[in-house]
Amino acid sequence: MRRGARETLVEAEERLAPLALASNVAWWESQVEATEENAARRTEAELALSDVLADETLFDAVRAAREAGVNGETRRQLDLLHDGMLKHQVPEDLRARIVELESSVDMRFSRHRGVVGGIEVGDTEIKRILRRSDDPFERREAWEASKTVGAEVASDVRELARLRNQAARGLGYRDWFALSLQTDELDEQKLIETLAEADRATAEPFARWKGALDEKLASRFGSPVSELRPWHYADPFFQEPPPDGSVDLDPLFADQDVVALARRTFEGIGLEVEGILRRSDLYPREGKNQHAFCIDIDRGGDVRILANTVETHDCADTMLHELGHGVYDLGFRDDLPWLMRSTHLVATEGSALFSGALTTRAEWLEGILGTSPSDIAGLGTRLEAARAAELAVFTRWVLVMNAFERALYADPEADLDTLWWELVSRYQGITPPDDRRAPDWAAKIHIAVAPVYYHTYLYGAIVGLQLTSALEDAAGGIVERPEAGRILREKLFAPGQSVRWDTLVEESTGSPFSVASLERAVAKV
Ligand SMILES: [Zn+2]
Repeated sequence: MRRGARETLVEAEERLAPLALASNVAWWESQVEATEENAARRTEAELALSDVLADETLFDAVRAAREAGVNGETRRQLDLLHDGMLKHQVPEDLRARIVELESSVDMRFSRHRGVVGGIEVGDTEIKRILRRSDDPFERREAWEASKTVGAEVASDVRELARLRNQAARGLGYRDWFALSLQTDELDEQKLIETLAEADRATAEPFARWKGALDEKLASRFGSPVSELRPWHYADPFFQEPPPDGSVDLDPLFADQDVVALARRTFEGIGLEVEGILRRSDLYPREGKNQHAFCIDIDRGGDVRILANTVETHDCADTMLHELGHGVYDLGFRDDLPWLMRSTHLVATEGSALFSGALTTRAEWLEGILGTSPSDIAGLGTRLEAARAAELAVFTRWVLVMNAFERALYADPEADLDTLWWELVSRYQGITPPDDRRAPDWAAKIHIAVAPVYYHTYLYGAIVGLQLTSALEDAAGGIVERPEAGRILREKLFAPGQSVRWDTLVEESTGSPFSVASLERAVAKV
C-alpha cells in the first residue's frame, strides 16, 4: 500500500532529525579542532545522514506524494525533502567517496599555514601584512603564502568536480553546476542573465574607482600602474577593497570589544544573541578553522558561531554577519515543522550581509561604536562611497567565482590555472603575476567544500540592500530601532522555508528581487 504524504513526512523527520543533529555536532567539532579523528567522526556522521537522504523507498514515497497533488505546507515540505534528497540518489560508493574527500580537503585547509619570513602564519596575519606592509617583497611573500594551500589540494578539488559530475549525470543532469542550481530553486538561465546585468551595472563604476585606486597604490609603492600585481591589493583574492581605496575604519576599532559591539547592535533592535555567543568559539587558536560561520545545530535554539575575532573593522563586520545568520535561525515561528525550520541560502545571506553592512553606517558608528558626530561628519560622503566600492569589488569577484565554477564543472580537465587568471584579469582588472603557473583557484576554500554557492552571496547582498531600504522606510532607520528588528523577525525570519526564497524576498522587502538596488548603490562610488 502506498503511504500518504503525512506518513511520509513524519517518517522523514523521525529519521532525519537525529542524524542531522549528530552530523552538525560532528561538523562543529571538526572545525573547532581539526584533527584526523574529528574528520573521521564527521565523515561517519555525514554518511549516516546521507544514507537516509539516499533511501530509495523514502525518495519514491516523496515523489509519489508530490505527484498525488497535495498542496499548501504539506506540498512545500515534500518539495524541500525532494530537493534535499535528490543529490543523494547516487551509488553508495560514489557518495562515500565524495563525503570522504570533502572532509579530507576541508581538514587540510584548517590545518594549513602559509610561511612568511620563515614563520608559519595564519590567514589573519597574512591579511594584516597585505593591509599594512609598505614592503613589496614582504607583500609578495605573504600573497604567495596565501596560495600554497592551493597546490596542496588542487588535484583533490579537481577529483571532487569529476565525482560530483558523475553523480549529477547519473541523475540526468548536464553537470553538478546544473544540478546544484535546480535543487537550490535557482533557474540557470535567469542566474546567467542576473550576473550579466550585475556585470553591466558595475563595470563602469568599478573601472572608475579602480583607476583612482591604482594611482594611489602606484604612488604608495613607488612603481608605475603597469607594474601593480595581485599582492599590491590588500585582500589575497581582491574580494574587498584595500584601505587605500576605501575608508580605513580600523583605527576606530583599536581597543574595542568587537563581540560586545555585536551584542549591543542586536539587543538594540530587540534580537537576543546572548545564547548564541555563549555556545560559540570566537577567537583565533591553532588548529581551528580560520574562517567564520554560523551553524544551527538542532533547529531548536542551539545556534553557534565560529570566528577568529580580533579588533578590526573587518572582524566586526564578520561578527555581525554571522549573528545575522544566527538571529534568523532563532526567529522561526514556534509551530513551524522541522522540515521548514531552515533558511534558503539567499535569504540567510541577505540577513547576514545586511547585518555586517551596518558597521559602515553613520548611525552604527555613532550609536554603537561611540564615534563622535564630528569625526563622522569628517568622513562625510566617503562612507557611502566606501560601501559602494565594497559592493562593486565584491560583485566583480563573484563574477570570477561563478564563471570559474561553471567552467570547472563543464570540463574538470581544462587548463584551470590559465582560465583562473583570465577571469581575474577580465572581471577584476588585475594583472596576473609574470609567468605564474600554479593552481591559485584551489586556494579558495569554497570551490572545494561549498561548491556552486558563491552567487548566493551576491544575491544575498542584493537582498540586504532591499532590506536596508525597506527598513529605512518602515522604521526610519535600523540601529537602536526595535521596530526594525520586529519587521525582520515577523516578515523575514518567522516563515522559515515555508515559502520559496523569491516570494519571501518580495514579501519581506516589498519589492521583487532585482539588480536595480545594486546598480543604484554602486553608482555612488
Ligand atoms: Zn554568510
